[in-house]
Amino acid sequence: MKTFPFTSELGWSVSRYDVFQSCKRKYYYQYYAKFDEPAIRDRALYLKSMTTVPLEIGNIAHDVMESILHRLIKSSQPVDMDRLKVFVRNRTQEYVSSKKFLEVHYKELESIDWEPLADRAFASIQNIVTSQRFEWILNLPQQSKDQWMIEPSGFGETRIEGMKAYCKVDFMLPHDDTIYIMDWKTGKPDPEKHRKQLIGYSLFASYHFEGRFANIIPMVCYVKESYEEVQPEISGEDIAQFVDTVRRESLEMKGYNLDEMKNTPKVKSSFPLTEQASSCRFCEYRELCDRG
Ligand code: SF4
Repeated sequence: MKTFPFTSELGWSVSRYDVFQSCKRKYYYQYYAKFDEPAIRDRALYLKSMTTVPLEIGNIAHDVMESILHRLIKSSQPVDMDRLKVFVRNRTQEYVSSKKFLEVHYKELESIDWEPLADRAFASIQNIVTSQRFEWILNLPQQSKDQWMIEPSGFGETRIEGMKAYCKVDFMLPHDDTIYIMDWKTGKPDPEKHRKQLIGYSLFASYHFEGRFANIIPMVCYVKESYEEVQPEISGEDIAQFVDTVRRESLEMKGYNLDEMKNTPKVKSSFPLTEQASSCRFCEYRELCDRG
């Protein structure tokens, strides 16, 4: 994959713009807390470092899938579900005991019981490994397996028409003249956001593997209740529109920079608290805004 020299310039991503749209103050704490006074900076960084139950379920499912796929490169033996269950339970216990949860911090829960998390993560993983898609993956030739990219390292930095952007993919699977890109989702479907991510993944693959593959097939795999795959048709017009969107959204975010190239923020008061108080209910920074 192509690499880039480090620059401080802001890089677009679906998740960054999502936060920007939801609340400018949250965006400030998420990306620019280090510019705040030390006490607030430390508190914001502490809150940012915490996890939540839904986030952790997704995290465990992704990490376990990563381990399963690495094992499949060496062996096409079907997955032993009993052993997998034990593995998921052990991994969950380890994660829950080593992390801090916002639900506990904000006193919504007294403590986190790891077992329900393990059950929900296992249910999602089971939906993947019992799917026809997984059967297909299992039986791919070694030549394909040798080229798999599982949770590629780094942040997924790329360029979209010269603009700095991040599109972090879960799993890229080259097979014959096609590269398949899979993104497991343990949460609810969000068609518009996920479609945007998939177009980003396609551009990521075409940028990094220019000309190596005739086709790029990105798909979102919803795994919470069952296994459901969505492979949207992406036209040239969709891509052109997406590039325009990235340009517009990057400019909007850069409008809050003091220095664009250094990615320094304007003063904190330029980042207003959202008027949608409902967004504050589950926000990690709510103690800093004194909103409950
Ligand atoms: S608590 Fe509300 S206003 Fe404060 S950062 Fe979070 S979403 Fe924004």
